[in-house]
Amino acid sequence: MAARQKRKRDITAGSLTKPTNALLRLRRGLAAAIGEALAVVLRLAEEEGRTLYLVGGGVRDVVLRRGQVDIDLVAEGPVVSLARKAALVLAGRWVEHRAFGTATVEGRDFRLDLAMARAERYARPGALPKVRPASIGEDLARRDFTINAMALALCGRERGQLLDPFDGMGDIAGGRLRVLHDRSFIDDATRILRAVRYETRFSFAIEEETLALLKRDVAYLDTISGARVRHELLRLLAEERPERGLQRCQKLGVLAAVHGALRFDDELAGAFRRTRRAGRAAPQPELHLALLGTRLSPADAEAVALRLALSKRQRQALGGAAMLAELLPWLSRADVRPSQVVERLEPYPLAAVEAWGLVVGQARAKRKLRRYLAEWRYVKPSLDGKALERLGVAQGPAMSDVLRLLKAARLDGEARTREEEVEVVRRVLAGTVEVPRAEASE
Ligand code: ATP
Repeated sequence: MAARQKRKRDITAGSLTKPTNALLRLRRGLAAAIGEALAVVLRLAEEEGRTLYLVGGGVRDVVLRRGQVDIDLVAEGPVVSLARKAALVLAGRWVEHRAFGTATVEGRDFRLDLAMARAERYARPGALPKVRPASIGEDLARRDFTINAMALALCGRERGQLLDPFDGMGDIAGGRLRVLHDRSFIDDATRILRAVRYETRFSFAIEEETLALLKRDVAYLDTISGARVRHELLRLLAEERPERGLQRCQKLGVLAAVHGALRFDDELAGAFRRTRRAGRAAPQPELHLALLGTRLSPADAEAVALRLALSKRQRQALGGAAMLAELLPWLSRADVRPSQVVERLEPYPLAAVEAWGLVVGQARAKRKLRRYLAEWRYVKPSLDGKALERLGVAQGPAMSDVLRLLKAARLDGEARTREEEVEVVRRVLAGTVEVPRAEASE
């Protein structure tokens, strides 16, 4: 609250729009290498008599004092020759993305994105827009929200001027997310997920009219390709507190619009919070996807994975969690041995096991999942193939069977030392212990 009031005071007092303040703050927030590269690009632009603008999230983040900002630069007219010259001076490389009129200059520890100011036209909802060269004003008008539609001139005659045609500053001060026109979500429904992401990150609120438009147009998510929905959803999951965004998505019907079976609830929100405690085994975002998978049937998980064009690992996390649900009644039984748990859980991705460890209510099942993650999955017999050969075990399938038996004996506390393992092997060789065959070798 205090932060919001301070933000409001700063902005309404106009201190943030003072050129020197914004430029100074930008410079202070940059890593040295980026600052130096930026200075070179600005000098080259000035030599050409051009103005370069910082645009989009960078301006917003300078205003919000959010530390390191992304340097997205825009100039009117082509930027490729500028990028090429800068790369030469900086001994870096440049890459041109001709279709978008953009170029990147990068070196070992900096990266600057340059773009030609452009206007966009959407031939149909969800289609990638047709672009044409345009003025900086038109470039700002194609953007998603007022807070992302500001430009700060970094060089040239206008140096230090803030272009803010949609009152982004007012909306930052008021903590509001507002679209620029009432077809915004129809043109590009990924903005729906972006709105929730910014709300989550900045603790802003979607402004009333924008909210009404979002609700009206939520079904347009259907017009967006799987890859683009996935990209925005994963960005939401990568936020500091993604559960807030997902709860909002649930409430606004956004998840259902992505796929009818997707849902989020308070219990999952709690599990999401617990993922932030140290010592998680599975990487993000697989763990988050697996948590979502705990609410899906295997068939629905497959359909969601298709809708989102998930990668193989992501699909396995989501689908694995959905399938693992079937094991829970068995895991909650008292007569299940650790070796059996390991055998049945090993084929599942870690993310799926970890997700169920976070959400399952039944205490015995939870304990088993957690012990599997923390200890059991690491257990190995002390004797290896060579040692077994010396004891007289033949190489081949028999050897793997004995190794498996030893691992089970370790897990179940039937062999605690190397000597006890040797004893188990002797009994196997003497035929007094039967070795269960692995399914694959049957
Ligand atoms: P972040 O801080 O998470 O990196 P960002 O605000 O920098 O977010 P990007 O996705 O990197 O956002 O996009 C950069 C800028 O491009 C945005 O600030 C916005 O002005 C514009 N933009 C990006 N996606 C869209 C979109 N779907 N529709 C309109 N404008 C967009």
